[in-house]
Amino acid sequence: MIDQNIDVSTLTNEQKAEYFKALKGIKPKKRKQKKDPNAPFVREKLTLPDGHNKLLLHSCCAPCSGEVMEAIFASRIEFTIYFYNPNIHPLKEYLIRKEENIRFAQKWGIPFIDADYDRKEWFERAKGMEYEPERGIRCTMCFDMRFERAAEYAHNNGFPVFTSSLGISRWKDMNQINGCGYRAAEKYDDLIYWDYNWRKGGGSKRMIDISKRERFYQQEYCGCVYSLRDTNAHRIASGRNKIEIGTLYYSAD
Ligand code: SF4
Repeated sequence: MIDQNIDVSTLTNEQKAEYFKALKGIKPKKRKQKKDPNAPFVREKLTLPDGHNKLLLHSCCAPCSGEVMEAIFASRIEFTIYFYNPNIHPLKEYLIRKEENIRFAQKWGIPFIDADYDRKEWFERAKGMEYEPERGIRCTMCFDMRFERAAEYAHNNGFPVFTSSLGISRWKDMNQINGCGYRAAEKYDDLIYWDYNWRKGGGSKRMIDISKRERFYQQEYCGCVYSLRDTNAHRIASGRNKIEIGTLYYSAD
């Protein structure tokens, strides 16, 4: 390895000749361009698979879908939000999460489908999985159930592509989510699951920035009664209070 930053004036003529000979063929170091922190943010233009331009967006909540919605909107893709999350417990939490999402959709003028809250079926499907950890088989069931219904709605209502805001959260396993998405779509010949990675290009950070800007309700657990139980147990073990539903909102700082 040749040190390209040495002071050549300190070398003898012989050393200089050796040095320049050794340097031949070595590409000069590229200077790293510093990012301008004040440069305006330019969004990547997104395109749907197979040249489509109509999308059904399954939304889990306002904080996760805020950045996703703004990215899709900026790319001029026609889309509708599909809110189907029967996993959320209790009802008070469900209604707050849904209302926050409706408020943001109305701000952008995006159609919003308020689907069922059929908790009975969710609990039926969760039987025997009550003590599974997050990211385990209960979560696969939970994504499957929500995506099956989203895919069915997309198929019945002329949406050639569907996706979900679930994958933007760093708490989730993207491969697990995508597996459920592909599985739901493969039942229909005319439907594609779009596995776009919403976290890339600073998406995760913008998700937080938008949540702060919009003062969204800040949910403190994933959603189901079991995740509420486990989060509370963890909080108590670390000397914190239990979650108080409906009290925490993002603030600007
Ligand atoms: S932890 Fe979250 S993803 Fe898993 S089952 Fe509960 S609500 Fe669904």
